[in-house]
Amino acid sequence: MVTVSTATAVWSRDSVKGEKRDLWTAMKRGFRCRCPRCGEGKLFRAFLKVDNNCSVCGLDYTPHRADDLPAYLVIIIVGHILVPVILWIETDYAPAVWLQLSIYLPVTLIASLVLLQPVKGAVVGFQWALRMHGFDENAPSEIPPV
Ligand SMILES: [Zn+2]
Repeated sequence: MVTVSTATAVWSRDSVKGEKRDLWTAMKRGFRCRCPRCGEGKLFRAFLKVDNNCSVCGLDYTPHRADDLPAYLVIIIVGHILVPVILWIETDYAPAVWLQLSIYLPVTLIASLVLLQPVKGAVVGFQWALRMHGFDENAPSEIPPV
């Protein structure tokens, strides 16, 4: 007969060791496309490709995957800025449709492209600050996934 014993670990806020991570500072640094920990190293190696690690402090970026969230957030932000302006112009001035489309479509495209990288950086900063990444079994300070 084989007896299996399992160790029980109790996780609490005090039992988690590690650096303090300020959410807003990390998101601001990410929005500036900088490392959420040191604020110096570049976060991206290409337009939307997050680098593997920070060139200054060595922070590993690979566990942080933003997936589609930045695109959804950019749609919400750009939509909430442009739609009220478009409705206001339409109701008060009613310019020709060709004129509206020749302005709104490029403005929407440019605003979306300009915001996409900073919003993705802020999402990565958000994930890093809240320790939202995969479990590293070699790091004793990590909380295992539920
Ligand atoms: Zn760094």
